[in-house]
Amino acid sequence: MTTYDYDLFVIGAGSGGVRAARLTALGGKRVAVAEEHRVGGTCVIRGCVPKKFMVMASDFAHAFEIAEGYGWTIDARFDWPKFIETKDVEIARLSGIYVANLGKAGVELIHGRAVLKDAHTVVIAGKGEDGGDLTVTAEKILIATGGRPWMPESLPGIEHAITSEEAFHLPALPKRILIAGGGYIAVEFAGIFAGLGVETTLIYRGPNILRGFDDDVRAHLAGEIEKRGIKVILGCQHTEIRQTESGLLNVLENGMELETDVVMFATGRTPHVKGLGLEAAGVELDDDGAIKVDDLSRTTAENIWAIGDVTDRMNLTPVAIREAVAFHETVYRDNPQAFDYEAVATAVFSQPPVGVVGLSENEARRAFEGAVDVYVTRFRPMKYAFTGSDERMLMKLVVHAGTDRVVGVHIVGPEAPEMIQLAAIAVKAGLTKAQWDATCAVHPTMAEELVTLKVKQTAETNAG
Ligand code: NDP
Repeated sequence: MTTYDYDLFVIGAGSGGVRAARLTALGGKRVAVAEEHRVGGTCVIRGCVPKKFMVMASDFAHAFEIAEGYGWTIDARFDWPKFIETKDVEIARLSGIYVANLGKAGVELIHGRAVLKDAHTVVIAGKGEDGGDLTVTAEKILIATGGRPWMPESLPGIEHAITSEEAFHLPALPKRILIAGGGYIAVEFAGIFAGLGVETTLIYRGPNILRGFDDDVRAHLAGEIEKRGIKVILGCQHTEIRQTESGLLNVLENGMELETDVVMFATGRTPHVKGLGLEAAGVELDDDGAIKVDDLSRTTAENIWAIGDVTDRMNLTPVAIREAVAFHETVYRDNPQAFDYEAVATAVFSQPPVGVVGLSENEARRAFEGAVDVYVTRFRPMKYAFTGSDERMLMKLVVHAGTDRVVGVHIVGPEAPEMIQLAAIAVKAGLTKAQWDATCAVHPTMAEELVTLKVKQTAETNAG
């Protein structure tokens, strides 16, 4: 029988890799994890967590505006370097907790870049004794290397643009920023910078931001972010970025030329597979460059699995964690589990934020051949009543008319991400509209609208 150095070797210590490594080591297996950067991965180091801190820092500006309506006088100033420093201290603390938890579980952490030599052999450059390469073998390997920002490399002047990764560490807050893209990251960072007082332009090639989301959500959010001062340019993209004496000139295909101090591209992320040695190990990629896996996250190599963004299934941290748990159950507990991607709630931390679970109206109409009832309400949250803010909230329920099941919930407005987490329980449980309605309201809240929606939307009631 072949003996290996490890039972499991995990490549990538992000949310998915760490969870799988810990569970497996706690189950008594010999596990190592290699990480070339800091432990914690995209979410903790350069994604969800620092982003949320930035959203919270930025959102104070709006809170101060509202506070004035309530009688407060506020003379607020924002210190970007101070914020970045405290944020980074917290990120380092969280990364340290991840390291400690790996240690407590008995996982060996190897700081270095792991490359597959064959299906059972991993080489970590410079980590051997005497500074040479470290070569180890493992019975099973889990690839959890995540994704990387992607930019259109052929665009003239693209070298002047930054991605979200650099946006977390700008030495100073710019006066003007232009963000290209219309997805999660573009919309979230546009809100962050606008809230912090930066003159912010969002440019997106499509007809409206957040492609794939419900059309009412897209339209509502586009209107609300404009109210918060973001200039939104739709149906247009760059032809060039040019350095000038006073900034960066964004040359757009509609003939517009816009000068800004920073240009950020949030044009998607791509699986991080480059130089991993996948071919040598027999691990194949799909047409979009993601690692090909089956329902149980097994790759085309019999002893190698992959989870998280590197497989480009549903690129969300909690999903990667669930995929890790399913991998562990399948491989080490004789309990094959395929993660269920249906009705996974998601939030866009725009300002105002978005919370969504289940099907958009269009998806439901396609799935149920039109047998869909829609309930929509738009209102001004009570908090804004006498503040001068005309920000409005959107709530929308999509119901399968045949079964009365609520199959989609869409919220744009304050606390939408918190609300959607709870709404997701009901959607996942397959509860009917009648059951939602039987739930007594909590008053006065915004969320009570979710259980008091009585009027089905028709062409006349959907005035927008
Ligand atoms: P998305 O895929 O969400 O959005 C990419 C955007 O870039 C789209 O608007 C796309 O346009 C546009 N785009 C793509 N190629 C080009 C191009 N060549 N020129 C101009 N525009 C282009 O990616 P993000 O980078 O925003 O986020 C990546 C993923 O990370 C998300 O999909 C999500 O899974 C995850 N994420 C989740 C967050 C959360 O849960 N809150 C936060 C951040 C990220 P088009 O729509 O026309 O294709």
